[in-house]
Amino acid sequence: KSKRKAIIAGNWKMNKTPSEAKALLTELAPMVKDADCEVIACVPFVDLTVALEATEGTNIQIGAENCHWEESGAFTGEISAKMLAEMGVPYVVLGHSERRQYFGETDETVNKRTKAALAHGLKPIVCVGELLWERECDITEEVIARQIKLDLFDVSAEDVKKTVIAYEPVWAIGTGKTATADQAEEVCAFIRATLAKLYGQEVADAVTIQYGGSMNAGNCEELLSKTDVDGGLIGGASLVAEKFQPIVAAA
Ligand code: PEP
Repeated sequence: KSKRKAIIAGNWKMNKTPSEAKALLTELAPMVKDADCEVIACVPFVDLTVALEATEGTNIQIGAENCHWEESGAFTGEISAKMLAEMGVPYVVLGHSERRQYFGETDETVNKRTKAALAHGLKPIVCVGELLWERECDITEEVIARQIKLDLFDVSAEDVKKTVIAYEPVWAIGTGKTATADQAEEVCAFIRATLAKLYGQEVADAVTIQYGGSMNAGNCEELLSKTDVDGGLIGGASLVAEKFQPIVAAA
């Protein structure tokens, strides 16, 4: 349906020990080997080594769930983009709503992390999305435009093309409440229009825009059929191979 390759990415959040990660990826690999889309598993930092090993020679790519903007230094508990790059991690999730809600992440820090990731050759999956009350107040587009502008501030057009945007309405994450396919399309199309204004249509057309928020085997087909929904960022349903595989197959 589109010129863009679909990307289905699992976001494991704070789930799976290294041995559990190995088991899940080993089970998943043969199930998704013929996928038409890109398949990514974003895993906790401590699972990265085992995840890279378990997916070697498969079509599953690995991502981290965050990275810091400095290369090294007095930032106890943080992991730099440089460290991830040396490990050979190709993707990193940035600005997830849980980071914004629980860990004080702001558009400014998301922007710094995004620039650092790109500088080290990592492809960021930048998450944006409105809160429920923001949707109810009818300011969804303002919120999204602001996040896109600030999170990508000072990022070159070439780098924007390497960036994946995940539209994740916060009220739909982990709640079982999915945006309707039309709601998802409306905002994903708005994100593309915003990118077109900022970087030109050619860049906007190249960017993969995912929907995330309680996507599952039952609703993925309709969501993924939409013109501007180029894939999904999957939380809960990425933790079980039988639940993740049908989403990959639908993309
Ligand atoms: C997410 O964490 O990015 C997400 C979309 O979670 P869930 O699929 O569980 O709503």
